[in-house]
Amino acid sequence: MPRKFARKRNAMRIEDIQEVCVIGAGTMGSQIALQCALHGYSVALTDALPVALERGIASNRRLLDTRVSKGRLSQAEAEAALARVHPIVDLSEAARSADFVIEAAFENLVVKREIFATLDAVAKPEAILTSNSSTIVISKLVEGTLRDATRAANLHFFHPVLVMKLVEVGKGPATSDTTAQVCMEFGRHIGKEPVLVEKEIYGFIVNYVLMHLTRAAFTLYEGGYASFEDIDKALKLGLNHPMGPFELADFSGVDILYGAMQQRYAETGDPTDRPPEFLEEMIRAQQLGRKTGRGFYEYPPKP
Ligand code: NAD
Repeated sequence: MPRKFARKRNAMRIEDIQEVCVIGAGTMGSQIALQCALHGYSVALTDALPVALERGIASNRRLLDTRVSKGRLSQAEAEAALARVHPIVDLSEAARSADFVIEAAFENLVVKREIFATLDAVAKPEAILTSNSSTIVISKLVEGTLRDATRAANLHFFHPVLVMKLVEVGKGPATSDTTAQVCMEFGRHIGKEPVLVEKEIYGFIVNYVLMHLTRAAFTLYEGGYASFEDIDKALKLGLNHPMGPFELADFSGVDILYGAMQQRYAETGDPTDRPPEFLEEMIRAQQLGRKTGRGFYEYPPKP
């Protein structure tokens, strides 16, 4: 008998969630797993590469050691949280008993769709399945891979996960209200402030607005309306932003920003999405921001 008929599905409730599975133990996945563990959940952390799992666990240990040394966490709490994260290489084994799954693998549609197809086969039929993707909306991950798309949603965390309070819950066209509400509740249970994105949109709220803000700042700069220093200054002093868009580009990496813009342009073909030429020139000159000591601004090496 096909698995979907084997058991009647009851909607997952927040109080039913005991076990979490996080897929991908890179920058985000390992920290998401730790955040869940710090709030009492048992977490299966899985990665296609065993070495990534080892690195993720070691990095979590360092994060907690720092918190303990600053008196923000007791040694016992740190040990208990670390013990709640179970590294498991095999995805099927890691996901099988999970009530709530957070996919945080590479930002690649094919990779993520394969993971959702596996989840369809192995996860509990009532488990809620989410993706931490920054740019891929949930409908693209579940169409043709997941038989019941009502239980899937985007769950977008911010880096560094332990520090950033926000999590964006993104509904797809098939996501049920119950799933969205459980995701919101889950976000609160792990100490975050969730917001609901009711319809699919590239970049959800934060990156959608940031993308337009950055583009507008670049247009002003390219058009010779103001220097980048004055545009940053205006946004910091006029809107109370902690960083201007040019400072932020240096902070994130000019190449990373260029890559994201280029990818968006390849998807839409819209000339207004084309990355500005000055970014290409900066990349050719290795002016990539803080990491190379020079971007829009200069960063002298620390003594
Ligand atoms: P990363 O490259 O640091 O980690 C990705 C991990 O996924 C790697 O360890 C890789 O081995 C693993 N992986 C790849 N394919 C897999 C598979 N089939 N099964 C299991 N594991 C697999 O990436 P990251 O920066 O942690 O980003 C992960 C996701 O989070 C992406 O979707 C990204 O868009 C999103 N995100 C990233 C940030 C950020 O600031 N880095 C912020 C928000 C959201």
